[in-house]
Amino acid sequence: MNVPLSQSIQAGRVLDANWETATCDRCGSRAPWRALASFASPSDIALAIHRKCIDAVTWPPSGRIDFRHCRGCGIVFMTPRLTEAGARRFYDAFYDSATDLPYYASSWTDLERARLDWIAQFAQARSSIIDVGCGTGSFLAAARAAGYRVYGVDVSEIAVTHARKERQLDADVGDIASLVASGRRSDVITMFSVLEHLRDPLDALSAAAQIVQRGGLFVFNVPNYASADRAFCSIVGRAWPGFIVEHNYYFSATVVRRMLADVGFAVVRMNSNSPVPRGARGTGPVVSGGRPKSAVTDRVVGRARTLLEGAFEHSLLSRHSIAGNFLHVVARRV
Ligand SMILES: [Zn+2]
Repeated sequence: MNVPLSQSIQAGRVLDANWETATCDRCGSRAPWRALASFASPSDIALAIHRKCIDAVTWPPSGRIDFRHCRGCGIVFMTPRLTEAGARRFYDAFYDSATDLPYYASSWTDLERARLDWIAQFAQARSSIIDVGCGTGSFLAAARAAGYRVYGVDVSEIAVTHARKERQLDADVGDIASLVASGRRSDVITMFSVLEHLRDPLDALSAAAQIVQRGGLFVFNVPNYASADRAFCSIVGRAWPGFIVEHNYYFSATVVRRMLADVGFAVVRMNSNSPVPRGARGTGPVVSGGRPKSAVTDRVVGRARTLLEGAFEHSLLSRHSIAGNFLHVVARRV
């Protein structure tokens, strides 16, 4: 869909207390762009919990939300996006209704085991790990049990309190900027499902380069807009349900390599797996030129997507591919 949001809207303009227009964080988005998907109303949002959270911030006055592919640098960004105050309202609503989510589960997950396996392949024994966006501390607890010295920060006071009290972890309320300011350094920095939520992911990458010494590791994951699943959705004329209102940015393997090189990291391992969240396994809104919504088409497309995602989830394919919905990256400071 190539219809501009509004010719009169300038980049970075505040629309109301909860919404503002956005620009590409990497090149400023003065470059041309095209919308890969648009939400015209809350009913276009795939996840029920997000539709509920949108109630807390109301629909943006621009009337629609675009996911724009920057032709200058390749990043995909959402505009308008939530202001800082809007994001706080949105996440408060999210955590209020999400207390039973797996975030609060105390058991190790397959994903955490896989993350520790990658780190063990590249890091020395008894290395220190700082987890930015540690949430309630499930990864840090797993890393501690595996012999690492661990510390975490998260912007959510609820999550940090849980990490400290329930898991006896060393964690503080904070973000990567406060972490850099604190002077703490480590052998490994991890940021799982964090960068896409930020307003300025490039600043966070620069900050990560200050936390680790030369040879240190940066381990993270980001959503991959260049996935086979999104290509399939595009072919059938539907928006990829991986586009969600929580994520300001989307990446590809090429974008990740370039961004890391900009700040002094080199990729030592990148692969993909993990489908989009369960609730988002149907189909997204119809994109320009796509067929009108119908229950039958939705069911057929949804089934095909589930099969495609199954091919990536916990499979050999995911270990060697960069075509899944998330990119998992291990980078070394050069
Ligand atoms: Zn750009």
